[in-house]
Amino acid sequence: MSSKGLKSRDKTDPKYKWNIEAMISDESTIDRDLQKIKKQAEKYTAEFAGHLGDSADTLYDAFASRDRIMRKLEKIYVYAHMRRDEDNSNSYYQGMTDKSMAVIAYVSSAVSFFTPELLSIKRKKLLGFIDENPKLKTYEFVIQDALRQKEHVLSKKEESVMAQMGEITGATNDIFTMLNNADIKFDDAVDSKGKKHPVTHGTYIKHMESKDRVLRESAYNSMYDSFKNLINTISAAYNYNTKTDVVNARIRGYGSSREAALSGDNIPGAVYDNLVSVVNDNLPSMHRYVELRKKLLGLDKMYMYDMYVPLIKIPNRKVSFEDGLDIIREALKPLGKDYIRKMNKGISQGWIDVYENKGKTSGAYSFGCYDSYPYILLNYTDTLKDVFTIIHEMGHSMHSRYTRDSQPYIYGSHSIFTAETASTVNESLLMNYLLNKETDKRMRKYLLNMYLEEFRTTLFRQTMFAEFEDITHKAIESGQVLTGEWMCSEYQALNDKYYGPAVERDDTIRYEWARIPHFYNAFYVYKYATGYSAAAAICDRILTEGKPAADDYIDFLRTGESDYPIELLKIAGVDMSSPEPIRKAMDKFNQLLDEFEGMVR
Ligand SMILES: [Zn+2]
Repeated sequence: MSSKGLKSRDKTDPKYKWNIEAMISDESTIDRDLQKIKKQAEKYTAEFAGHLGDSADTLYDAFASRDRIMRKLEKIYVYAHMRRDEDNSNSYYQGMTDKSMAVIAYVSSAVSFFTPELLSIKRKKLLGFIDENPKLKTYEFVIQDALRQKEHVLSKKEESVMAQMGEITGATNDIFTMLNNADIKFDDAVDSKGKKHPVTHGTYIKHMESKDRVLRESAYNSMYDSFKNLINTISAAYNYNTKTDVVNARIRGYGSSREAALSGDNIPGAVYDNLVSVVNDNLPSMHRYVELRKKLLGLDKMYMYDMYVPLIKIPNRKVSFEDGLDIIREALKPLGKDYIRKMNKGISQGWIDVYENKGKTSGAYSFGCYDSYPYILLNYTDTLKDVFTIIHEMGHSMHSRYTRDSQPYIYGSHSIFTAETASTVNESLLMNYLLNKETDKRMRKYLLNMYLEEFRTTLFRQTMFAEFEDITHKAIESGQVLTGEWMCSEYQALNDKYYGPAVERDDTIRYEWARIPHFYNAFYVYKYATGYSAAAAICDRILTEGKPAADDYIDFLRTGESDYPIELLKIAGVDMSSPEPIRKAMDKFNQLLDEFEGMVR
């Protein structure tokens, strides 16, 4: 729909808007509150800087006051941000967002003495404080975690140099972002009737899903020709980005850049290696799926541009928002009455902003702060895919609800590693629910295909990316320079290995690595694959073991960031330090593939 056809926000039925007034009902005090928070931050520094080690009571007060300041500030920022998302043309809320961000920067800088000073206190003294003042128990995990990372913290002077250099070393990411979002141009793609279609990052995947093969091929060539033309520049940016990771890790005394990246969440390297090795063991299944795709598309020769077109067509069936909610209520029943009750309460409290309006932020998210509802922004268009979006975001919001009902502010958020598990468990439950009740053969095939595609794009593809990052970082660590030619041939080899012999080799897909922005934030994408596997294992456990498994899962949802992700997932019955959950996910893929193959043969 063009933006001209969209209703303005004030014409939207209030029952489909989120109840953001419940968060802050009087905006008139916000400016004053921000100024007050700034004053409090100044007072905070004056009172506590240089005194954290004075006594157990002082340390507790410093922790608790810092939480109080951040908590109030976070609320204003989140509110302004969500108000802006309602209509991005509204400059009033843009201004409020900017103002609150400026205060966040100010306060962060005012309290930045905290962690280095905490770490300057002798370990024994610090742990003694916890025994002395039992209220410090709340902060024990943060303190222990800081002590764990202490050996990688440099002297005050060196840290200051690192911080200043950081302003420069981030350049490679900015250069790529500019090139990728502003400077790069793509030729129009041409369809089988000779009609031209613009190619952008946004339209590319739609072209890849098009039934028109001529259009697919044309868009594919247009995309990669542009990257090919810039490959030396991009390779230089990526080389230095990777080198920055390697040098930073070396300066901080880590064994490798991967170890440094994984240490934030305290993830053992084995988790990464298990993922790669189990997925590699199962590549023959991926090849079988690709082979089947080729057969179903009726192609003599299949290319990478044939990889996204849906294999099964279904008639467009409208699912109203209310019907969508009924579906998710049924699908999530295995999680138990408490989950459904809390969720229904949330829906009636007005967590969800349902429909698109003029200027509203696109896409979907779950957002909020410790002291607000865990709101959900949607752009609901009455499709089954939108129902998956609601249940995904609801997974995040319910994770937040359970966590904030149980944890203190300091542990009230989630790491990406656990967050995507909570949303994907819900999606998997929905998929299983739909498959269980679907008797229509065509619809069943459609769902199976959708499920298999999720495995392909999340578990296989992200693992392939993870493998690529591991290769490039290891190459730099062994003294190599990453050239365009070398990276393209490494990427080609990975692509061949993952997709197998049913795909024709061309001179094109080898440039794909050059267009992946995530590669400038290394050792991140593997979390999508591990999160997906953990979710598959949890969902499987809930559906086979019932209530005890569901109760364990709810206990996991309550834990927030009170421990390391690997430990928290164990509460839900999943040990990600073993290869077992990845194997289970692969079993599921094989089982789905068997059924799909049986139906379409
Ligand atoms: Zn998500």
